[in-house]
Amino acid sequence: MPDERLGTGRPPRIVLLRGPRNRNSLAVLHRALRRAADRGEIPGGLEVVLVDAPPPDLDDGDLVGFSFTTVDLDDVAARLATLRALPRRPLLIAGGAHPSADPEGCLALGFDAVFVGEAEATLPAFVARWAADPGRRGPDTAGIFTPDAPFDLDAEPHADADSPEFPFLEISRGCPHACAFCAVPALFGRRMRFRSPEVAAAGVAHAVARGHRRIRCLTTDAFSYGGGPPEKVAAALDRLGAMCVAAGASYLMLGSFPSEVRPERVTTALLEVVSRHGANPTVVVGVQSGSDAVLGTMRRGHTVEDAARAVTRIHDAGLSPHVDLLFGFPGETAADRLATLEFSDWVLSLPRGRLHLHVYLPLPGTPAWPAPPEALEPAVVARLRALVATGRADGYWDHHVVQGRRILAQAKAGLIRRGA
Ligand code: SF4
Repeated sequence: MPDERLGTGRPPRIVLLRGPRNRNSLAVLHRALRRAADRGEIPGGLEVVLVDAPPPDLDDGDLVGFSFTTVDLDDVAARLATLRALPRRPLLIAGGAHPSADPEGCLALGFDAVFVGEAEATLPAFVARWAADPGRRGPDTAGIFTPDAPFDLDAEPHADADSPEFPFLEISRGCPHACAFCAVPALFGRRMRFRSPEVAAAGVAHAVARGHRRIRCLTTDAFSYGGGPPEKVAAALDRLGAMCVAAGASYLMLGSFPSEVRPERVTTALLEVVSRHGANPTVVVGVQSGSDAVLGTMRRGHTVEDAARAVTRIHDAGLSPHVDLLFGFPGETAADRLATLEFSDWVLSLPRGRLHLHVYLPLPGTPAWPAPPEALEPAVVARLRALVATGRADGYWDHHVVQGRRILAQAKAGLIRRGA
């Protein structure tokens, strides 16, 4: 049994703070803690709560966990300062995209411990040490914690009979590419790991038993599922889709958020698999730029021609191509932006074409960091607004402009320590 909290008579409590972008991560971590408790690896009497705001009765018997992105940094820093000022403050830990990219910066910010990358194994082991320490402040509960090996995604389903929250159905993790604006390979590694159809369907059955029939797959590229050439991927994806639908996923979402596809992987056979099992009318495809020069500096590994072929194939398959585009990447010229706008016009000339607009966000942990975004000309901003006004373009591109400025200012102020 865990030690009772000093002075309060209650067992130790783990408080995981919900934020605007961490619900999926918290659901995964909560499950990892519950499974570790089931296996007797951490004390069963620990209370784990997921809350929107820190409870008022926090004290030094508690552990408070943050999981966040760089975009959330100001809010997290303010909340952290409040918690650190408590007379008997809890242990404060951090994980997620930003702490993984800038662990030293997060320690300097005031966290006691920072988890880099996947925390499914490191967090339960840490909690076991923390709960066993009567003072809750031992040397084993401070510093930077990095997993020894990649997590085996296929070891368990994404959900079980006792799941209070249901994360996305993660069908792969890791990415072999190295797009210069993306932190995913640094966060999860470049070896793509897969959750098999059998294990995925077992999780779906649990979710369906609890009334969740809309199942969103999560992967960096749905058309790389299982690995290998397109024919092998089509067979693996077909089996995955069939087993998930048989398990009760009457609204399976495959190839749409959060499981977009890379352009050079799009084939007619793979689109047929999506149409057969997926309920989504849209396939999200990462095109990013209408300029081959920019695609080269982004290290995307595909051309504009690949992208146009993919969009055409998705449309010809009766689906709606939802095209991701990114403006302002470092080195992008005014002519490159015009090329991307021309590509946008072509997409919208297709009856079912749609756009998802982004502006490059400088993020620690990405190869391009800390290069600033290129400024968008007023005429380009006006064109982006006009695209949104069609009702067929979405995305937080205007927020990204503001967020990018703020992130660079945070780096200049020393709030982010990660260098290039
Ligand atoms: S943008 Fe997609 S393909 Fe590129 S590195 Fe990130 S996850 Fe991989």
